[in-house]
Amino acid sequence: MRPKPIVAIDGPAGAGKSTVARRVAQALGFLYVDTGAMYRAIAWQADELGLTPDDVEAIAAMARQSDVRLEEAPDGTQRVFINGVDVTDAIRAPRISNLVSPISAIPGVRARMVELQRQMGAPGGVVMEGRDIQTVVFPDAEVKIFLTASPAERARRRWRELQGRGVTADLAQIQRDIEERDTRDSQRDMSPLSKAADAIEVNTDGLTIEQVVERIIRIVRESLPADSSSG
Ligand code: C5P
Repeated sequence: MRPKPIVAIDGPAGAGKSTVARRVAQALGFLYVDTGAMYRAIAWQADELGLTPDDVEAIAAMARQSDVRLEEAPDGTQRVFINGVDVTDAIRAPRISNLVSPISAIPGVRARMVELQRQMGAPGGVVMEGRDIQTVVFPDAEVKIFLTASPAERARRRWRELQGRGVTADLAQIQRDIEERDTRDSQRDMSPLSKAADAIEVNTDGLTIEQVVERIIRIVRESLPADSSSG
C-alpha cells in the first residue's frame, strides 16, 4: 500500500477541476498534477512544428521523445515545461484549446502522457486531475472524484478566467467550444471521459470553490485509515 493516497479528479472542461485540485493539494500538502496542461504542452509543440492533428505518426513520434514537466514556482503557481521551454501561458490560448482535443486522442500521445503521469503519481500523496485518471492512469486510486457542472455554468467560469488573464472571448462561443470538446472527449475510442463505477460525483453548480474543496477534503480524510488521518 502507498503511504499516502492518490486522489484522482476527473470531469469535463470548466467544471472547476484545476482550481479545486490545486487547493485540495495545497491543503493536504500533496503534489498537484494538471494532466490537461501536459496534453496542451504536446499540442503546443505540435503546432510549433507546423503539424496538424492529422499528422498522427509524426505527433506520436514527437510525443515519445518529449519531456513534459510540471514545476512549482517560488510563488506557488505551477509552471509547465516541454523539453525545457516554459509554455505555461502559451498553452492557454484558445487556438491550443481547440487543437488539444484531437491531439490528445492520438494513442501514441496518450501512451507517453500516461507513462509520465504514473511516474509522477506512483509514490502517492498526489492530487491528479484530468479525464482518465480514475479509469486508466490510476484505476486503483484511493479516492476518485468526478467533478461536474452544467455547460452554461462551465462556460461562464472559463469566460471569467480568460477575462482575468486579459483575453477577450465570446461567451456563447466558449460554450459551443466546451460542448464540442466534451463530445469529442467522451466519444473517442481511447480513454474517453467517463466516470468510474466507484467514483463519487460532485456537481459544483451553485457551490463555492471553498465548499467543493471542503467536501473533497472530507472525502479524502474519510478514505484514510484511522491512524494516518492526522497526517
Ligand atoms: O483540463 P483541460 O481542459 O486543460 O484539458 C485540455 C484537453 O486535454 C481536454 O479537453 C482533453 O482533450 C485533453 N485531456 C485528456 N486527458 C486528460 C486531460 C486532458 O485527454 N487526462
